[in-house]
Amino acid sequence: MDIRERVERLAARMADAPQYPSQGATVFVDLERRQTMRKYLSREVLLNFLGGRGANMYLLYNLLQADRPALDPEIPLIFGAGVLTSDMPSATRGNFTSRSPDSCAILDSNAGDYFPSFVKRHGYDHLVLYGRSPDWTLLKIAFDQMEFLDARPYIGLDNLDMMAAIERDFHCTERKDVAMARITRAGENQVLCSGIMGGIKSIWARGGGGAKMGSMRLKAVMVLGKPVEPPHHKDLKDYNKIVGKKITSAAVIKNALKMVGTPFLYKPSRVLGAMGTMNNQKTTWHETLDADNFDPYRPGMDGCFKCPVHCRNQNDMTPEGKGGWGSNALKGLKGNASYDKAQAEVQHGKQKSYQGIKGDGKFDKYDKGDGPEYVTVGKFGPLIGIKEPEHVLRLNNILNDLGLDSASTGSAIAWAMELYQRGIITTAHTGGLDLSWGSYEVVEKLLFMTAERDGFGDVIADSARAVERGKYAREALDYQMAVKGLFQSDPHDARILKAFALGLSVATRGMDHLRNRVTLEINARINDDPAFKAALYGGTVAAQPNSYDGKEIAVRRCENTFAVGDSVGMCRFNTKLFNSPTLPDLNDFATELRILTGIDFTAEQLDEIGRNITGLERMLNFRLGLRAKDDTLPKRWFDEQVEVGPFKGEKVDRQEFERLKTRFYEVTGLNSEGVPALDWHEKLSQVVTGFALRVDLPKALAGAPERAVVIDEPVANVVELRQALKRKLPEAEEDLDDSTWNVAVNGAMLLSGERGAGLKSGDHVAIVPIIAGG
Ligand code: SF4
Repeated sequence: MDIRERVERLAARMADAPQYPSQGATVFVDLERRQTMRKYLSREVLLNFLGGRGANMYLLYNLLQADRPALDPEIPLIFGAGVLTSDMPSATRGNFTSRSPDSCAILDSNAGDYFPSFVKRHGYDHLVLYGRSPDWTLLKIAFDQMEFLDARPYIGLDNLDMMAAIERDFHCTERKDVAMARITRAGENQVLCSGIMGGIKSIWARGGGGAKMGSMRLKAVMVLGKPVEPPHHKDLKDYNKIVGKKITSAAVIKNALKMVGTPFLYKPSRVLGAMGTMNNQKTTWHETLDADNFDPYRPGMDGCFKCPVHCRNQNDMTPEGKGGWGSNALKGLKGNASYDKAQAEVQHGKQKSYQGIKGDGKFDKYDKGDGPEYVTVGKFGPLIGIKEPEHVLRLNNILNDLGLDSASTGSAIAWAMELYQRGIITTAHTGGLDLSWGSYEVVEKLLFMTAERDGFGDVIADSARAVERGKYAREALDYQMAVKGLFQSDPHDARILKAFALGLSVATRGMDHLRNRVTLEINARINDDPAFKAALYGGTVAAQPNSYDGKEIAVRRCENTFAVGDSVGMCRFNTKLFNSPTLPDLNDFATELRILTGIDFTAEQLDEIGRNITGLERMLNFRLGLRAKDDTLPKRWFDEQVEVGPFKGEKVDRQEFERLKTRFYEVTGLNSEGVPALDWHEKLSQVVTGFALRVDLPKALAGAPERAVVIDEPVANVVELRQALKRKLPEAEEDLDDSTWNVAVNGAMLLSGERGAGLKSGDHVAIVPIIAGG
C-alpha cells in the first residue's frame, strides 16, 4: 500500500471539523502532486497521545512503510505543535517526526522559537508532508491559504541569508509576521547531521531532518502573517499567571537559565569528572569553558514566543559588542558545583580579548550570534579538544548558519579525531587535514566542507553511518559514541551516572538526553534527602549517582513526564524533573488542558499517556528492526574506567546494566524484546490502527518472546495474516514458513481455504502445529 492509499485510509478515520475547542487541523500535503487535504484527529487520539510528538507518532505509525528507507519520498515528514503550544507560558514547541536517515530509529526532533506557535495560530496542529516536489519548493501557509512557491532562487542559501532573502521578498520580519522552518545547503546536500532551522539558532537538530527535507526538495515551510490572538478564557489567563510564576521563581531559572543559559551545566559536569572529553577518552576538561568565561561576550538573552524565561544567551565578540550580561550570576550558586563546593566560589574575571579569529582586528558575520547551549559548548569544546571560549562561540555561530546539529556533527568530528589519533585513518583519508585534537582552523574548515559534502566533509556528512557507507573500517565502531545509530546528544560522560546511562540506552530516538535525563542526579542536595527523592520519582531511588538501585523508576518517571511535555508543547527546560523539582508538572498541564479543550484530564492519566507515547515509539522502532539488544551503550563505557574526580574507577558493569534494563522494561510494561507486552500492545493497536489481532504461537519465536504477537495492520484473511506475520517477525521467517503450522480462528481449526477465511479486529487466532504420527 503506497503513501497515498495510506493517507486515504487514515483520513477515512478522521473528522472534517474540530473535535474540541482549540483543536487545529491536520493537513496532508502531497508535495509531488501539489495537493492538500484538511482533516481533524479524533478525541481518542488526544485522550491517548495528546498532540505534538504523541499525535505525530500516531500519524507516523499509520503512514509508515517500514520497508522503505528514510529518504524515500513515500516516508512522510510530520510536523506537530503541542496541544498547549502558544497558549501556556513556555509552551513554544513542536516536533518534526519521521524515520531517521541518520540513525536506525525514529526521527523525532523538538524545537521552539516562533514557528510552532505561528503554525498553531494559523489554525494547524499537524502538517503531514510527503512526496518529492517536482522542483525546489517553498510551502507558504497564510491561515486558510496554502501555496507551493518556486524555491529555486533560494537554493544554496544558508540560514542567515535565507531568512534575509525571505524578509526582503515578502516584506516581512521574522517573529513579527513570519516564521519559517528551513534547510540550508547542508540539508540540500542531504548531510545526515543537518537539521531543520527554525530561527537564527533554533534547530530541529536530531536525526537528520535537514537531509529528509532536502530529499523532498522542500526548502522551507513559511508561515506568513501576524498570528491571531485567540479569545482566551479568563480561567486560562489566571492559570497562566500561576504557571508563569512557578517558572520564573524556580532558583535554577532565576539564577542560572535566565542569566547565562544552559552553559551553567558545564562546571558541575567538569567537577564531577563526567564531562565527555576527546571522544570520551577522558572525562574532565579546562575551567576556561565555565559559563562565566563567556560573560564578556554576552550582551543579553533572547527567547521563544512569549516565553518568560529568555534563556538564550547571545554572543557578540565584535568591538561593538556590549558584553557583561549575567556577570557574577552564578557566584556562590552551590548546586552548580555540588561535588566540590569550593568550586562554587571560583570566579575567573575573564576580560574581553578577542581581536578577530586571526588576531588581526578583522571581524565577520560569525563573530556574533545566538548561543551556545551547553550541548554545543561540550561538543565543540572538550569533546574535540578545544578550550578557548572564543573558538566555541565562533564554531557555534557557524553551525547555526550551516544548519548542522552540533551534537551529531561534533561527535562525528570527535570520532574522526580519535580514529586519526589511533592511526585508523591518516591524512591519506582526510585529504591532508590534520585532525589532531583542538585544531580550531581544521574544524572550522571542516564544517563548511561538511555542508558541501566536499572532500573529508563527505565522511562527516555521513555522520554515524560512515562505516555502513564504506567510509571507515568496521573497527571504527569500537570508538563510536552512539546508540541505535544516533550520536550522543549531551556532553555528559554517563559512566558514573547510572540513571543517565540507562536513559541514553533506552531513549527511543537514540542516544539522547532530552527524552528522559534524570538531571537532578547531579544535584547533591536532592540526593541527600531520600524522602524527597522518593516522592519526586514515585519510588525509592538510590542517593548515589553511581548506584544502579531504583534508577529505572527515575528514568520511567522522567520519560513519561517529558513525553507529555513534548506533546503539549512545553519547553523541557521549564518542565518538572529536568532542571528543577518545582517547575510546572503534570497537574499543571492537566489543568491547562481542561481549560483549553474542555476535557477532564488528571496527572495520573497524563502519566499513562506519556507511557503510551513511548510505547508507541517502541512499536515503531520494532518495525524498523530495533530489538532489546539495541538498548545498549557504547563499548567504551563498559570497558574503560573514569580516571579522575570523586568517582574515579567507575564504569558501567554489563551484568548490572542488563539487570537495570530488565527492571526498566518491567516497570514500563515491556516484554523482553523491549516492546509493549501483549495486553498493552493490543490496547494501543486498537486506538492507533483500529485493528488488533492477537495471534498465539506454538512456541516463543525470535522477536516474539511471549509466544504470541499482536498484528496491528488490517488484514482481511488468513493468507494476508501469514504475510503480515512475516513482515512483523522477519527473523522468524523460517519458522513461520513451516507448512505443518495450521491456523485456528476463534477456536475453529482451518483445514483449507485460508484466503476465504475472513478476519476482523478482535478475533483470536492461534497457530497450531499439526500433530503427525499415530
Ligand atoms: S526556556 Fe528558553 S528555550 Fe525554552 S521556551 Fe523559553 S526561551 Fe525558549
